[in-house]
Amino acid sequence: MAIPTPEEKLKVIVVGAGICGLACGAALREFADVTILESVAEIKELGAAVHLAPNAHRLVQNWGGDLYQYGSVPNRNVREYTKGGHIKYDIPVDTMAEFGVEWILCHRVDVQAELHRLATRPDGPGEPAKVVLNSRVVGCDPEQGTVTLKDGTVMTADVIIGADGIRSAVRAAVNPVFSSFPSMHSAYRFLVPVEKINAHPDLVELGTVEALTIIDGIDRRIIAYPCRNKTLVNFIVCLPEEIGLWQLRDQEPLNQWAKGRVIIVGDSAHPMLPHQGQGAAAAIEDAEALGYVLRNATREQVPEALQRVFRLRYRRATMVQQASRAAGLGDMLKKASGFEGGELPQEFSNVMKFRQFNMSYLGAEDWEKNHEEWVLPESAVLNGVLVA
Ligand SMILES: Cc1cc2nc3c(=O)[nH]c(=O)nc-3n(C[C@H](O)[C@H](O)[C@H](O)COP(=O)(O)OP(=O)(O)OC[C@H]3O[C@@H](n4cnc5c(N)ncnc54)[C@H](O)[C@@H]3O)c2cc1C
Repeated sequence: MAIPTPEEKLKVIVVGAGICGLACGAALREFADVTILESVAEIKELGAAVHLAPNAHRLVQNWGGDLYQYGSVPNRNVREYTKGGHIKYDIPVDTMAEFGVEWILCHRVDVQAELHRLATRPDGPGEPAKVVLNSRVVGCDPEQGTVTLKDGTVMTADVIIGADGIRSAVRAAVNPVFSSFPSMHSAYRFLVPVEKINAHPDLVELGTVEALTIIDGIDRRIIAYPCRNKTLVNFIVCLPEEIGLWQLRDQEPLNQWAKGRVIIVGDSAHPMLPHQGQGAAAAIEDAEALGYVLRNATREQVPEALQRVFRLRYRRATMVQQASRAAGLGDMLKKASGFEGGELPQEFSNVMKFRQFNMSYLGAEDWEKNHEEWVLPESAVLNGVLVA
């Protein structure tokens, strides 16, 4: 691609400097002038971990990312215990051999820091993205291409990307019908220093193995894995809602992600339950797809390019969203469906069986060219809304 002149460069505003917004910075900076508006005064991620399967780790690596520098741990095993302590399965993992990339266990702070570095480093491609803190967006106009900040400032851009999470302010301008509902479950996440784990002989393994360990009860589940050079062990505890720690909310797929010059991506477009550990991965995939499509778009072509991103991403993101629901506690499989309401294949509720679909993803270009059945045809979308 010819390097765009400053006049030709697309001006992009990204709302939200979470995993998705920063990934957009990394994906677009080569050819666009990117400003990321973030509501908080300081980027501070929650003290918890996140595992990035090869589909997302591959894209971060393609941007020049290196999560090993933070002590991220490759996952070598997935095993599940019954609540009585009996092993249900113990599956060796070698995603390097299977998919050419490691499945990696990371501290969330480190993923965010690495994406921030990729978006803003002075020696990266194009110009560094600008991250502007203390900038809460309260509204946007898809036709004019403007966002309005809480202090009344109005900013204009060729592209506005709503990467502002499940409580998105941008979403209302694109698809006001969104409503989430209780999933009937709660999740609680925490990190424990490995010394504390090692003080309990029964638990020592959790801090020493490079594995994702699942302990499954009838209506509850614990997932544990190490991160940061195995100095910390991350726990996610999923519980019936009545225990009431942190409610996990669920939502149906949205039939429109883009309108005019605005698109919503990441949790703003397709928030999902955490049971496949793929929400951040899908957000990173969205960012890469925006980079692929917008790279060759002119200002005039932006509205159509954003619709193409929707068509490219909708079925895959929806399938992962539904599979995440299906892998939930109890009878959640019954509440999941295929990407357009069809049946969800049973095996999609199992993280290891679903891995081929998740982990073999190579990026938007390959998806568009070689996985046509997963891309919405133009005829399925009328005025930006999925009609099929
Ligand atoms: C228990 C649990 C475990 C999980 N584990 C995994 C895992 O192992 N692997 C995985 O891939 N995913 C996992 N996920 C999912 C993952 O955390 C999310 O999907 C991901 O963080 C979404 O990123 P995002 O950038 O779209 O949204 P967010 O992370 O919510 O970021 C949104 C950003 O926008 C900012 N913002 C919000 N509103 C405004 C506004 N009006 N103006 C300006 N800025 C605004 C926010 O401050 C924030 O910085 C898990 C989720 C949960 C709940």
